[in-house]
Amino acid sequence: MDGGTKVLVDSPAHDQPAPSLYDIAVEQFNTAADVIGLDDDMRRILSVCKRELAVNFPVEMDDGTVQVFTGYRVQHSIAPGPSKGGIRYHPDVTLDEVKALAMWMTWKCAVVGLPYGGAKGGVRVNPKVLSQNELQNLTRRYTTEISMLLGPHSDIPAPDVNTNPQVMAWILDTYSMHHGGVAVPAVVTGKPLLLGGSAGRLEATGRGCVFAIEQACRTYDIDLPSQRVVVQGFGNVGSTVAQILHSIGCRVIGVSDSHGGIYNPNGLDIPSVLAYKRQMQTIVDFPEAENVTNEELLELDCDILVPAALEEQITEENAPRIKARLIAEAANGPTTPDADRILYDRGIIVLPDIYANAGGVTVSYFEWVQALQSFSWTEDEVNSRLQRIMIESFMAIHEAAEQYHVPLRTAALVRAIQRVAEFTRVRGIYP
Ligand code: NAD
Repeated sequence: MDGGTKVLVDSPAHDQPAPSLYDIAVEQFNTAADVIGLDDDMRRILSVCKRELAVNFPVEMDDGTVQVFTGYRVQHSIAPGPSKGGIRYHPDVTLDEVKALAMWMTWKCAVVGLPYGGAKGGVRVNPKVLSQNELQNLTRRYTTEISMLLGPHSDIPAPDVNTNPQVMAWILDTYSMHHGGVAVPAVVTGKPLLLGGSAGRLEATGRGCVFAIEQACRTYDIDLPSQRVVVQGFGNVGSTVAQILHSIGCRVIGVSDSHGGIYNPNGLDIPSVLAYKRQMQTIVDFPEAENVTNEELLELDCDILVPAALEEQITEENAPRIKARLIAEAANGPTTPDADRILYDRGIIVLPDIYANAGGVTVSYFEWVQALQSFSWTEDEVNSRLQRIMIESFMAIHEAAEQYHVPLRTAALVRAIQRVAEFTRVRGIYP
């Protein structure tokens, strides 16, 4: 084993195709691997996904026709324990994207010290045009197709974009029916409370992100309640972040969803925005604000920016115009590596996704532990354990950033890679 060779060149020439999401994940991995001088053998093991399953499957629609959908389940690493990762329903899902998200899940679990490897799943579908019945049929068939990987001690899904507790309930029931019918609650997390879900899980990713922001503000001496905040994405994660920050006195001046954004420099009344969204299915045209595009939203004059929608939103193109001084990556992969370098040079603090949105998987871990023990914790217990993990993880990442003189993302990756490499090394290579 010798000292690190880079797999990817630093930054692609402009006439070359943009790097794929998986290229980005591998580039981030290599940057951190360089910092710790990770040997080439370990790089070869950790820079690929262990298992990649692609499935094409038919679903009978309400009108009697049959449609064929494509889905994936990828496990990046199972060295530290069972693999853990969400399932996403979106028309743009690709194997490449799922692989990147699976790798990030490995690092995410490691950075907050959970006994899991990383996985991710997805189906190429626009769930908004399906009836509940069609969505259930699709979910049950997809679960069956990937069931060779799933299990409470092998691979445990959770919600992600466009999936929710009801979808998790169907996954639980389908898996359980294949195993004698008695519910196996530990096979999935983010399920309804009735079926063994955890108090606080629905809000956990957003709440964890707020704990991360609070700890960063304490560390960098920023007075949080006086900050102006912009949140991109107003789904589960984004709306929770906006709600909690609003409730502690921050001025949330801009929010957006897939239809566009709204802006009010005096601050939006988030409970009213939530009520409006429930009624209109979008936040666009909210009466006490002006409409902005998603592109404009990211560049608004604010102090804290929370991307909570999809990947690759902050790019080399808009990074020079971002005004926030703190970015908390609630979404997975919202910043491209080129943008990252620009933000770092501009002194903007980026709380990286593998840390900033780890609250979801952390409370998923709590849910899994509760399910295995058939015992439930109170919401206060869940939230305070989550807070402790988010604070301790931040301190450790911050310490690594100072030790190696690297941005927080690289520091978080360094800690995560060291941990997963150690599991891999100590377990050894079979045979
Ligand atoms: P969600 O489906 O509940 O919400 C997504 C939101 O983003 C919606 O408001 C949607 O309208 C909006 N959106 C979609 N495309 C957009 C665009 N181009 N511009 C602006 N807004 C757009 O999903 P979620 O669970 O809130 O997940 C959001 C992000 O957080 C994803 O990157 C996901 O991977 C990440 N994440 C979620 C969890 C979780 O527990 N739900 C955990 C970790 C990370």
